[in-house]
Amino acid sequence: MKYGEKEITHFSHPQHKLRFEISEAPFKCDGCKEVGIGSRYKCNSCNFDLHKHCALPSPFKSHIFYPKCSFQFLPRTPGDIPRFCNACERDINGSVYHCKSCGFDLHPTCANLPSVLDDGEVKLHLYCKASEPCQKCGRKGRSWTYRSTCKKYNLHVACVREMLVESWQDIYLGHGSNSKKLETRIPNLKGTVQTNQQRNKGKVKKCTAIAGMAVQFIISALLGDPTALIAGVVGSLISKA
Ligand SMILES: [Zn+2]
Ligand SMILES: [Zn+2]
Ligand SMILES: [Zn+2]
Ligand SMILES: [Zn+2]
Ligand SMILES: [Zn+2]
Repeated sequence: MKYGEKEITHFSHPQHKLRFEISEAPFKCDGCKEVGIGSRYKCNSCNFDLHKHCALPSPFKSHIFYPKCSFQFLPRTPGDIPRFCNACERDINGSVYHCKSCGFDLHPTCANLPSVLDDGEVKLHLYCKASEPCQKCGRKGRSWTYRSTCKKYNLHVACVREMLVESWQDIYLGHGSNSKKLETRIPNLKGTVQTNQQRNKGKVKKCTAIAGMAVQFIISALLGDPTALIAGVVGSLISKA
């Protein structure tokens, strides 16, 4: 199986073929149980969806932040104890990249977060820890972090994941994955952007724009498809809000 194939058969849903499509509405992935947007593989007979990364995983994966680890893709978490993602700190309830030797875990979408998000205007780099306070929680360290090239903007992957979970409780709890109402509740950073404005008066406009773009960008990446922003999917959801 290769990326870009239109129709696939997946071990977790062998009875029907899954078709590739671009979804403008958020969906819940039946592999990792997290929310997705943009690219997905869908069964048209059942309400069954998979992130691209969950439909076509690599059996093993390495990660630049954990050079000694070898992450194996597992359809569900190993053992009985709760597992948490090293990238976003949230619990893992479905498919996972697991390192057997040290017990590290990554959501499939987190394991595939790009090291650079760049749409030509905004450029964000992924770091293992925050060296500057995060715009959302004010803390350093903690989880993986995206930082803008202008160095003014820092956001924990964990904080963006929290925003998604708060905004999309209904999807996470398993209700109404196709409800229209949910589309208007994409998270934004209104309060966060204001505190940033007070500190840097001269660069207010530019940084506010970057802040807005940055959060949309990280959201798209966490939802499994950074190109969803470029395609305007996430932006169109925000403008409806
Ligand atoms: Zn998934
Ligand atoms: Zn089906
Ligand atoms: Zn390891
Ligand atoms: Zn994660
Ligand atoms: Zn934070």
